[in-house]
Amino acid sequence: MRCPFCHESDDKVVDSRSSDDGTAIRRRRECLVCSRRYTTYERIEELPFSVRKRSGELEPFDRPKIVRGIQRAVTNRPIDDTTVELVAAQIEEDLRELGGEVTSEAVGLAVLEHLRVLDDVAYLRYASVYKEFEDIGDFEREVGLLQKTTEPKRKPRGD
Ligand SMILES: [Zn+2]
Repeated sequence: MRCPFCHESDDKVVDSRSSDDGTAIRRRRECLVCSRRYTTYERIEELPFSVRKRSGELEPFDRPKIVRGIQRAVTNRPIDDTTVELVAAQIEEDLRELGGEVTSEAVGLAVLEHLRVLDDVAYLRYASVYKEFEDIGDFEREVGLLQKTTEPKRKPRGD
C-alpha cells in the first residue's frame, strides 16, 4: 500500500481483524519509511448474480434451492450433506465464472455435470426431472449417454 503521508509503498501489517459485520478485513499498517500508521479495509466483492428463468423472469441465484434439488436426487444414496453443500458451492463458483447472469438451463446443466461425476443414480434422477423425461425411452437414451461419457476417452487430437 502507498503510505498516505510520505507516499512510499513499503509497509508492514501490524494488526488484522474482521470488521464488526464480517464483510471486511481491517488492517493496521505501519509505513517502514516514515513509521506512521494508517488503516486499510479489504472488502470481498459480492457481485450480483442472477438466473434468467425460461419465462424470462430474472431471479437472484439461490444456492439453498440448488442444495434442495441435489438432496432430492441423492436420497438414499451414500452421499452426505457436506458433500451436497460442497457440490452446490462448486456449482455456484462455476456459474459465477460465466458472468453476472446465467440461464436456468445453464444452472440445470451445471448440476447435471456435477452429479454425473458424483453418482449415476442421482444423475439420472435429476436428469429425469430436469429434462422432463416422458417415457422409459428417454431414460434408456440418457443411460446410454451416461455409459458413453464414462468410457475411457480416446480423442484423436491434432493431425
Ligand atoms: Zn510513510
